[in-house]
Amino acid sequence: MNVFFDVDYTLISDDGSLRPHVKQVFTQIKAAGHKLYIWSGVGIRWEVVRRHSLEGFIETCYLKPLSNYRDALIELGVDVMPDFAVDDHAGVIMAFGGVVVRPYYTPKPDDKEMLRVFEALTAYKKT
Ligand SMILES: [Mg+2]
Repeated sequence: MNVFFDVDYTLISDDGSLRPHVKQVFTQIKAAGHKLYIWSGVGIRWEVVRRHSLEGFIETCYLKPLSNYRDALIELGVDVMPDFAVDDHAGVIMAFGGVVVRPYYTPKPDDKEMLRVFEALTAYKKT
């Protein structure tokens, strides 16, 4: 499946720090044979990917639609279909399927939200 992660408050906090367990869950998702993409409504976020050394995990970065989700894909140049999205906003998840995560606003070393993502992906695949 094509797994799409949002950036702000999903992968990073307001100060740009990486959420706990992101690399762990990216490793699991890749090992299970899925493809990882990163998208954001505010830009193509290679600087975040590089700052946290995530290049090896992801296929590419895209702009994320903020409304008319499915129709906007072509407009924004998203040329693969998102099968499973991970986002702190429910709108994207309602459009493409996936899991809503609790927003990661401030750094929190004991945050375990990412650990739910792989379980949710595995469960989703079965349905
Ligand atoms: Mg977000």
